[in-house]
Amino acid sequence: MKADKVISGNLVLEDRVVRGEVGIKDGVIVEIKDNGDSIQAREKLDFGECYVFPGFIDVHVHCFSNPDEGFTKVSRGAAVGGITSFLDMPYDLPNPINNVDEFQSKRRRLEQESHVDGGLIATIKKSGGLDQIQPLAEAGAAAFKMSLFETDPYRFPRIPDYEIYRAFQLIRETGLRVGFHAENDDLIYPLIEEHKKNNNTEPVAHSDSRPPVTESSAVLKLLEFAYWTRVKLHIFHVTLPRCIDYIQQFRKEGVDVTAETCYHYLLLDIEDLKEKGPLVKVNPPVRSKEDVVGLWHRLKTGEIEFVTSDHAPWLYDKKLEGEGDIFKSPSGLPGIEILAPLLYDAAVVSGKLTPVEFGKIMATNPAQTFNLHKKGSIAIGNDGDLTVVNPHKTHRINAQALQSIATWTPFDQQQLQGKIAATFVRGHLVYDGEKLTGVPGDGKFIPGLAYKTEREMIK
Ligand SMILES: [Zn+2]
Repeated sequence: MKADKVISGNLVLEDRVVRGEVGIKDGVIVEIKDNGDSIQAREKLDFGECYVFPGFIDVHVHCFSNPDEGFTKVSRGAAVGGITSFLDMPYDLPNPINNVDEFQSKRRRLEQESHVDGGLIATIKKSGGLDQIQPLAEAGAAAFKMSLFETDPYRFPRIPDYEIYRAFQLIRETGLRVGFHAENDDLIYPLIEEHKKNNNTEPVAHSDSRPPVTESSAVLKLLEFAYWTRVKLHIFHVTLPRCIDYIQQFRKEGVDVTAETCYHYLLLDIEDLKEKGPLVKVNPPVRSKEDVVGLWHRLKTGEIEFVTSDHAPWLYDKKLEGEGDIFKSPSGLPGIEILAPLLYDAAVVSGKLTPVEFGKIMATNPAQTFNLHKKGSIAIGNDGDLTVVNPHKTHRINAQALQSIATWTPFDQQQLQGKIAATFVRGHLVYDGEKLTGVPGDGKFIPGLAYKTEREMIK
């Protein structure tokens, strides 16, 4: 008997959906049958009409921008939301992950506290941090993240051009990807001041003080730096079709650049910011209805590789400090638990994307972009990470019941078609459609693969 567990249903493979079975042994996929044959195993779980997707991956999560959240709460939300792997951002409170000691202690916490698999993105200091790039890459960073917008000079700095240039040259050697928060703060800070001076602090002032040029000019600069240094570049949370068009242009010139958008940029626009105020405040801001249509189009064509949550768990009271003055509210929305359910409903149920396209966006493309070993597709030799979606079941988002400390979302009480019926991490059931069935420590650290060729990886 080869497999120790068999899961059957409508398998979402890379090129088709088939009624079939997946056999898993010691956490790894060892057999796939799609011709009516059955796999012998001790434990057989038949999900009938449900879709069995490759485990969904969210590569943009902030577990410690509020330290009260942490790996356990985020990964519980992940399990319930069908996310089997995540990448965590480095801008932690109190200390960012810009040296090996911080990196190693965070890795140990992940291994002890997470319900699902996770990797870590590292960063560098505003200046003088270049010598940490190689050691962080060797320690297992999945990627590097930097910003052109300064949220905080120590924790979340804007990196000056000289440091970017040298960092790109060093990161190129590691083979890892560098991702950017691309907003032009030379433009944004004076615009915010101008709005404040004019007592222009209603919700839409957030978006008005970060007009499209603040994002597109930052993206263009990074593309040009990547062109000359040949680093692998990723642009986090793109909100504008125009930026995706620039990215396409540079791809044609041979730049290895990838792009994501977030669920909120596909589902919310400026009208929602006007209506719901602080609960829709996020950086970059939500955009126009036309931009939303343009993003959906580029998602369908594959020009946007994947969609993330940018999970940022602010407490409700903290978020509401911006009532009456939008600039007083912190930016960001929680989302790891609702990312896949919301998008499944908006993309697959609506007919905008096929299940195969959805599997690519939610699993295959993020795994490929960040070189996540043995993740991202239902294939022999890959980890038995599976997300089962029942397309016939409806449910309602209940913000109070979210696993996060942030028990709010602008999508509260929204009715959704399609529900996560089970989440498997390396063959282990961590969520059964009703309750969490795993424990902290079930999750494993996903090491980055710096300095490794693809050939070495396959071994
Ligand atoms: Zn973020």
